[in-house]
Amino acid sequence: MNSMFRKISVKGLHYLHDLADLCFPPSCLACGAPLPQSAILFCPDCLHRITFIREPYCTCCGTIFPAGASHLCGHCLRKGWHFDRARAVMVYNETAAKAIVGLKFGGRKAALATFGKLKEQSPANRDLVITDAIIPVPLHRNRLRRRGFNQSLLLALAFFPDQRRKIQKTALTRQRDTMSQTGLDGAARRRNMRDAFVVTRPEEVRGKKIVLVDDVFTTGTTVNECARALKQAGAVRVDVFTLARVEKNR
Ligand SMILES: [Zn+2]
Ligand SMILES: [Zn+2]
Repeated sequence: MNSMFRKISVKGLHYLHDLADLCFPPSCLACGAPLPQSAILFCPDCLHRITFIREPYCTCCGTIFPAGASHLCGHCLRKGWHFDRARAVMVYNETAAKAIVGLKFGGRKAALATFGKLKEQSPANRDLVITDAIIPVPLHRNRLRRRGFNQSLLLALAFFPDQRRKIQKTALTRQRDTMSQTGLDGAARRRNMRDAFVVTRPEEVRGKKIVLVDDVFTTGTTVNECARALKQAGAVRVDVFTLARVEKNR
């Protein structure tokens, strides 16, 4: 009875959020200021604080450099990653964080059209190569049940509206319900994530060039573990594409 009640209330909550997006006048995704209907739901002040990521950055992991030309960063020269390169639309600053939290924890799906538009206009968009498959970073089924949606899948749909048939929702799954990564340092994040992901449909991965989609690139541990599993299953290339990334990941 209890779990049924919980299920209904979570579903009801998402229904209410969807309804709110439809019924209420549009407002800024970051500060909530009312806005005229527009393709990008940021008020002029907040839009000003959205920072597109542009060169110079690490040609592999996308770490942002303050000046100079793009090149491989020290970490990528020494050790590297399982993914081939990582690109992101915007810097994960306070404004970006508010909009992302609104989607993830407030279920504000109206944000997706805005994120899709920002992606289209971003320099990172030009770095995307032709791909065979688009794979969102999966949530564990327990978290998916609680949240009601996987924000990475929604982002993949918003980012690649013309390539939706390439989106593979079930090729990669999260088999461990890892605790939140927030507050963990690099080594603890890696321990927490070890073997968290498994390729359940290798035939959709083998020999393929893949774009892996996530909301935020923080230390890169999550996408790196996904890329490890995909490469082990025979993927020939894994490029990471996220909505935002922290300015410094090390
Ligand atoms: Zn605003
Ligand atoms: Zn790098």
